[in-house]
Amino acid sequence: MFIMGLTGGIGSGKSEISKIFSKNIKISVIDADLLARKAVETGSEGEKQIFKFFGDSVIDEGGRLDRKVLGSIVFNDRSKLEILNTIVHPIVEKLFYEKVKHLTEKGEKFVLYDCPLLIEENLFHQVNKVLLVRAPIEDRIYRIIQRNNISREEALKRIKAQLDDETKEKHADYIFWNDGTLDELKASVIHLWEKVSKIYL
Ligand code: ATP
Repeated sequence: MFIMGLTGGIGSGKSEISKIFSKNIKISVIDADLLARKAVETGSEGEKQIFKFFGDSVIDEGGRLDRKVLGSIVFNDRSKLEILNTIVHPIVEKLFYEKVKHLTEKGEKFVLYDCPLLIEENLFHQVNKVLLVRAPIEDRIYRIIQRNNISREEALKRIKAQLDDETKEKHADYIFWNDGTLDELKASVIHLWEKVSKIYL
Protein backbone atom coordinates (compact mmCIF):
# COMPACT_ATOMS: atom_id res chain seq x y z
CA MET A 1 0.00 0.00 0.00
CA PHE A 2 1.28 3.42 -0.95
CA ILE A 3 0.18 6.12 1.49
CA MET A 4 0.25 9.74 0.41
CA GLY A 5 -0.01 12.11 3.36
CA LEU A 6 -1.97 15.27 2.61
CA THR A 7 -1.39 18.24 4.87
CA GLY A 8 -1.69 22.01 4.93
CA GLY A 9 -2.95 24.88 7.04
CA ILE A 10 -6.50 25.86 7.84
CA GLY A 11 -8.49 26.78 4.74
CA SER A 12 -5.77 25.66 2.33
CA GLY A 13 -8.01 23.12 0.57
CA LYS A 14 -7.29 19.67 2.06
CA SER A 15 -10.95 18.69 2.20
CA GLU A 16 -11.57 19.78 -1.39
CA ILE A 17 -8.54 17.78 -2.57
CA SER A 18 -9.69 14.76 -0.55
CA LYS A 19 -13.12 15.00 -2.20
CA ILE A 20 -11.53 15.03 -5.67
CA PHE A 21 -9.44 11.97 -4.77
CA SER A 22 -12.40 10.02 -3.46
CA LYS A 23 -15.15 11.11 -5.89
CA ASN A 24 -13.30 11.69 -9.16
CA ILE A 25 -10.24 9.47 -8.89
CA LYS A 26 -11.91 6.80 -6.70
CA ILE A 27 -9.04 6.65 -4.27
CA SER A 28 -9.83 5.93 -0.61
CA VAL A 29 -9.15 8.76 1.78
CA ILE A 30 -8.45 8.32 5.47
CA ASP A 31 -9.45 11.43 7.39
CA ALA A 32 -7.39 12.08 10.55
CA ASP A 33 -10.07 14.37 11.99
CA LEU A 34 -12.65 11.59 11.70
CA LEU A 35 -10.28 9.12 13.35
CA ALA A 36 -9.69 11.60 16.19
CA ARG A 37 -13.46 11.86 16.69
CA LYS A 38 -13.82 8.08 16.63
CA ALA A 39 -11.02 7.82 19.20
CA VAL A 40 -13.14 9.69 21.75
CA GLU A 41 -16.64 8.63 20.68
CA THR A 42 -19.26 7.80 23.29
CA GLY A 43 -18.29 4.72 25.28
CA SER A 44 -14.80 4.54 23.83
CA GLU A 45 -11.62 3.89 25.75
CA GLY A 46 -10.40 7.36 24.76
CA GLU A 47 -13.47 9.00 26.25
CA LYS A 48 -13.04 7.01 29.47
CA GLN A 49 -9.42 8.13 29.81
CA ILE A 50 -10.36 11.77 29.15
CA PHE A 51 -13.08 11.67 31.81
CA LYS A 52 -10.62 10.13 34.22
CA PHE A 53 -8.06 12.87 33.74
CA PHE A 54 -10.18 15.96 33.03
CA GLY A 55 -13.08 15.15 35.36
CA ASP A 56 -16.69 16.34 35.43
CA SER A 57 -16.03 19.68 33.72
CA VAL A 58 -15.77 17.96 30.32
CA ILE A 59 -18.92 15.85 30.76
CA ASP A 60 -22.11 17.41 29.38
CA GLU A 61 -25.64 17.00 30.78
CA GLY A 62 -26.21 13.88 28.71
CA GLY A 63 -23.08 12.24 30.17
CA ARG A 64 -21.15 12.73 26.93
CA LEU A 65 -17.82 14.34 26.22
CA ASP A 66 -18.21 18.10 25.84
CA ARG A 67 -15.74 18.70 23.02
CA LYS A 68 -16.15 22.47 23.18
CA VAL A 69 -15.22 22.67 26.87
CA LEU A 70 -12.35 20.25 26.37
CA GLY A 71 -11.16 22.34 23.40
CA SER A 72 -11.10 25.53 25.42
CA ILE A 73 -9.27 23.86 28.32
CA VAL A 74 -6.46 22.52 26.14
CA PHE A 75 -6.30 25.67 24.00
CA ASN A 76 -5.35 27.65 27.09
CA ASP A 77 -3.07 25.12 28.78
CA ARG A 78 -0.23 23.50 26.87
CA SER A 79 0.46 20.82 29.48
CA LYS A 80 -3.17 19.69 29.33
CA LEU A 81 -3.02 19.63 25.54
CA GLU A 82 0.00 17.34 25.80
CA ILE A 83 -1.89 15.02 28.13
CA LEU A 84 -4.87 14.96 25.77
CA ASN A 85 -2.52 14.16 22.89
CA THR A 86 -0.93 11.36 24.91
CA ILE A 87 -4.39 9.84 25.31
CA VAL A 88 -5.72 10.42 21.78
CA HIS A 89 -2.72 10.02 19.46
CA PRO A 90 -1.98 6.32 20.08
CA ILE A 91 -5.67 5.49 19.57
CA VAL A 92 -5.77 7.48 16.31
CA GLU A 93 -2.64 5.71 15.10
CA LYS A 94 -4.16 2.31 15.93
CA LEU A 95 -7.37 3.22 14.06
CA PHE A 96 -5.26 4.44 11.12
CA TYR A 97 -3.41 1.14 10.79
CA GLU A 98 -6.66 -0.83 11.15
CA LYS A 99 -8.08 1.17 8.26
CA VAL A 100 -4.93 0.67 6.15
CA LYS A 101 -5.08 -3.07 6.83
CA HIS A 102 -8.74 -3.18 5.81
CA LEU A 103 -8.08 -1.29 2.56
CA THR A 104 -5.05 -3.47 1.79
CA GLU A 105 -7.17 -6.60 2.25
CA LYS A 106 -9.68 -5.11 -0.19
CA GLY A 107 -6.85 -4.95 -2.74
CA GLU A 108 -6.34 -1.19 -2.73
CA LYS A 109 -2.85 -0.03 -3.61
CA PHE A 110 -2.97 3.70 -2.91
CA VAL A 111 -4.56 5.73 -0.14
CA LEU A 112 -4.62 9.42 0.70
CA TYR A 113 -4.23 10.33 4.38
CA ASP A 114 -5.75 13.75 5.06
CA CYS A 115 -3.85 14.73 8.17
CA PRO A 116 -3.77 18.45 9.08
CA LEU A 117 -1.04 18.05 11.73
CA LEU A 118 1.11 15.45 9.98
CA ILE A 119 4.22 17.66 10.08
CA GLU A 120 3.63 19.24 13.50
CA GLU A 121 3.10 15.81 15.06
CA ASN A 122 5.97 14.19 13.25
CA LEU A 123 3.88 11.43 11.68
CA PHE A 124 6.18 10.82 8.71
CA HIS A 125 6.52 7.13 9.60
CA GLN A 126 2.84 6.65 8.75
CA VAL A 127 3.13 7.84 5.15
CA ASN A 128 5.31 7.24 2.11
CA LYS A 129 5.26 10.79 0.78
CA VAL A 130 3.99 14.16 1.97
CA LEU A 131 1.81 16.38 -0.18
CA LEU A 132 1.52 19.93 1.15
CA VAL A 133 -1.30 22.12 -0.07
CA ARG A 134 -0.75 25.85 0.03
CA ALA A 135 -2.89 28.83 -0.89
CA PRO A 136 -2.30 32.58 -0.79
CA ILE A 137 -3.08 33.92 2.67
CA GLU A 138 -5.79 36.28 1.39
CA ASP A 139 -7.58 33.35 -0.32
CA ARG A 140 -7.40 31.35 2.89
CA ILE A 141 -8.74 34.23 4.98
CA TYR A 142 -11.60 34.77 2.53
CA ARG A 143 -12.46 31.05 2.39
CA ILE A 144 -12.37 30.61 6.18
CA ILE A 145 -14.55 33.70 6.72
CA GLN A 146 -17.10 32.32 4.26
CA ARG A 147 -17.01 28.76 5.58
CA ASN A 148 -16.87 29.42 9.34
CA ASN A 149 -18.72 32.73 9.43
CA ILE A 150 -16.00 34.40 11.52
CA SER A 151 -14.27 37.79 11.43
CA ARG A 152 -11.14 38.53 9.40
CA GLU A 153 -9.28 39.02 12.68
CA GLU A 154 -10.32 35.58 13.97
CA ALA A 155 -9.44 33.93 10.64
CA LEU A 156 -5.97 35.50 10.73
CA LYS A 157 -5.53 34.47 14.37
CA ARG A 158 -6.27 30.84 13.48
CA ILE A 159 -3.83 30.91 10.57
CA LYS A 160 -1.09 32.48 12.69
CA ALA A 161 -1.58 29.91 15.46
CA GLN A 162 -0.39 27.20 13.07
CA LEU A 163 3.08 26.23 11.89
CA ASP A 164 4.00 28.44 8.92
CA ASP A 165 3.97 27.09 5.37
CA GLU A 166 7.64 27.89 4.73
CA THR A 167 8.66 25.54 7.56
CA LYS A 168 6.18 22.92 6.37
CA GLU A 169 7.61 23.08 2.85
CA LYS A 170 10.92 21.70 4.14
CA HIS A 171 9.14 18.43 4.97
CA ALA A 172 7.05 18.13 1.82
CA ASP A 173 7.75 15.92 -1.19
CA TYR A 174 5.08 17.64 -3.27
CA ILE A 175 3.79 21.18 -2.93
CA PHE A 176 0.48 22.03 -4.39
CA TRP A 177 -0.83 25.58 -4.88
CA ASN A 178 -4.60 25.94 -4.54
CA ASP A 179 -4.88 29.47 -5.87
CA GLY A 180 -7.44 29.10 -8.65
CA THR A 181 -11.06 28.04 -9.02
CA LEU A 182 -12.41 24.71 -7.79
CA ASP A 183 -12.49 23.47 -11.41
CA GLU A 184 -8.83 24.39 -11.79
CA LEU A 185 -8.10 22.61 -8.53
CA LYS A 186 -9.81 19.47 -9.82
CA ALA A 187 -7.79 19.56 -13.05
CA SER A 188 -4.52 20.06 -11.15
CA VAL A 189 -5.27 17.25 -8.70
CA ILE A 190 -6.06 14.85 -11.54
CA HIS A 191 -2.83 15.93 -13.26
CA LEU A 192 -0.87 15.29 -10.06
CA TRP A 193 -2.54 11.91 -9.66
CA GLU A 194 -1.55 10.92 -13.21
CA LYS A 195 2.03 11.82 -12.38
CA VAL A 196 2.29 10.10 -8.98
CA SER A 197 0.35 7.00 -9.94
CA LYS A 198 2.87 6.37 -12.74
CA ILE A 199 5.72 6.62 -10.25
CA TYR A 200 4.30 4.74 -7.27
CA LEU A 201 1.80 2.24 -8.63
P1 ATP B 1 -9.43 22.92 7.42
O1 ATP B 1 -8.05 22.54 7.83
O2 ATP B 1 -9.90 24.14 8.11
O3 ATP B 1 -10.43 21.80 7.49
P2 ATP B 1 -9.06 22.59 4.59
O4 ATP B 1 -7.60 22.69 4.27
O5 ATP B 1 -9.68 21.24 4.61
O6 ATP B 1 -9.35 23.41 5.89
P3 ATP B 1 -11.14 23.21 2.72
O7 ATP B 1 -12.25 22.93 3.68
O8 ATP B 1 -10.90 22.25 1.62
O9 ATP B 1 -9.80 23.50 3.51
O10 ATP B 1 -11.32 24.65 2.08
C1 ATP B 1 -11.73 25.75 2.89
C2 ATP B 1 -12.95 26.41 2.24
O11 ATP B 1 -12.52 26.99 1.01
C3 ATP B 1 -14.06 25.43 1.89
O12 ATP B 1 -15.30 26.05 2.07
C4 ATP B 1 -13.79 25.10 0.41
O13 ATP B 1 -14.96 24.74 -0.28
C5 ATP B 1 -13.22 26.43 -0.08
N1 ATP B 1 -12.24 26.25 -1.16
C6 ATP B 1 -11.13 25.48 -1.16
N2 ATP B 1 -10.46 25.59 -2.30
C7 ATP B 1 -11.15 26.48 -3.05
C8 ATP B 1 -10.96 27.03 -4.36
N3 ATP B 1 -9.92 26.70 -5.12
N4 ATP B 1 -11.89 27.90 -4.81
C9 ATP B 1 -12.93 28.25 -4.04
N5 ATP B 1 -13.17 27.79 -2.81
C10 ATP B 1 -12.30 26.91 -2.31
